[in-house]
Amino acid sequence: MLPDWSHYTSVIGSQPIVDPSRQFCHNPDCPVSSKVGEGNIGVHNQKDRRYVCHRCGKTFAATKGTTFHRLHKAADLVVIVLALLCHGCPVQAIVAAFDLDD
Ligand SMILES: [Zn+2]
Repeated sequence: MLPDWSHYTSVIGSQPIVDPSRQFCHNPDCPVSSKVGEGNIGVHNQKDRRYVCHRCGKTFAATKGTTFHRLHKAADLVVIVLALLCHGCPVQAIVAAFDLDD
């Protein structure tokens, strides 16, 4: 079953976290992974918009799993990665160094 991503519209942009009950744990090893409404998700850091799963203890960004999360990563890394590639750095080394293989 695919997760329901529609609730992310409430946390993108500059809006603070207000409803952790609509979030779910992203840890694949967690017993309540991808389940909404288990009561396991709390606010870890409102300023950085991070949630925490009280079942497994993992934290995750409010935008995790969305294109916004990946866009943020791409925006931060694209200049660095291009510079490394231009200087002959192996692609495998860049993937490993920046954890891009996901
Ligand atoms: Zn969890």
